[in-house]
Amino acid sequence: MKYVLVIPDGCADEPQAELGGKTPLQAARIPHMDTIVSQGILGRTDTVPASMPSGSDVGTMSLFGYDPLVYHTGRAPLEAAAQGIELGPHDWAIRCNFVTITKDNMASFTASQLPNDVGEELIGLLQEMTANNAQWEFHQGVSYRNLLVYRAQNAEDQPFDSGTSTTPPHDLTDQTVLQDLPSGKGSELLLDLMERSKKLFLKSDKNQKRADGQPAATQIWLWGQGSRPALKPFQEQFGKSGAVITAVDLLRGLGSLLGWDIIEVEGATGYTDTDYAAKGRAAIETLEKSEFVVVHVEATDEASHEGEAQEKVKALENIDEHIVGPVHDYLKQQGEYRILVCPDHPTFLRTKTHSHGYVPFGICGTQVRPDQAKCYDEITASASNLLLPKGHQLMPFFFGTLTK
Ligand SMILES: [Zn+2]
Repeated sequence: MKYVLVIPDGCADEPQAELGGKTPLQAARIPHMDTIVSQGILGRTDTVPASMPSGSDVGTMSLFGYDPLVYHTGRAPLEAAAQGIELGPHDWAIRCNFVTITKDNMASFTASQLPNDVGEELIGLLQEMTANNAQWEFHQGVSYRNLLVYRAQNAEDQPFDSGTSTTPPHDLTDQTVLQDLPSGKGSELLLDLMERSKKLFLKSDKNQKRADGQPAATQIWLWGQGSRPALKPFQEQFGKSGAVITAVDLLRGLGSLLGWDIIEVEGATGYTDTDYAAKGRAAIETLEKSEFVVVHVEATDEASHEGEAQEKVKALENIDEHIVGPVHDYLKQQGEYRILVCPDHPTFLRTKTHSHGYVPFGICGTQVRPDQAKCYDEITASASNLLLPKGHQLMPFFFGTLTK
């Protein structure tokens, strides 16, 4: 039996005036997703616990069958896994952004997309600055996105805990940062590094007189800290081999922690111009050897962040035509299967940001007895009796007897 999960990231939304009072899922022509529902079942689930910030890191962990309240430790450890940085059982990973803060305001959480060569120099300076503190390890990523690793000396050496609080810099754009500095256990270590980076960044000519004419990075901003999540490999948890197709580091990291194959697709951009058909073909190829394949598409989320309703509709239509359609056709030909479509969280066009609330899911395939629903959308799903209150209930439901 083969299993596929398609994730149109952040596709769940509200009715839009621009779309004649329809949600993007209602407005889009998505005959293949509608087929899944009309031949199968439609339900709702809540992937992001109310106490946690909404985002793909939390939402996809839920979708993959792991309770984020138990297993989610932060974003940085997932990104570390994506970059192949091994964390020991007591180590911590922390996101290290290069940012531009002027007069205590977050002018740019990307330091105006800091070029990699400037980033390389700044990471070198940071590593030199902490040369006498062997626990700190800076890892350069792409542009402004870097990682800081704390290598613990032993099990007792725990600088932070779950009460250590930091703020994503993208939540502070054009706002004062003074109320949102790190707090809680170990925050003085983070504040000290952030403070010392200010003087250090003044020393770099490459940074101060940037070739692209943009303002300098003024300091590092530390956030998203976490220790290695204690995730049981997917094969052990659900008895199935897995693979994920995605252009997003968080999902690559989560996939590799679960022991999945990470499938790279040429032309996959993580944006609305991604090569949908190439992802569809890659999913079919991957199904030859994996029992369970996840296809994640970021484009719907990106269109929401930009507040572009028409783009969101178009992205959904592309996912339907080039991924859901061909993959479902292939599954039917090859024998027993189940296919599931479900976003990781809603992303509202109105607020341009991730939100909480139910997302609709559709399942069809072997031994799935159809219900009454005919269309895949939020409004139809809200009338369904099938409600899984917690997102991590969906995966065992999908693999199981489809009873609550
Ligand atoms: Zn997402």
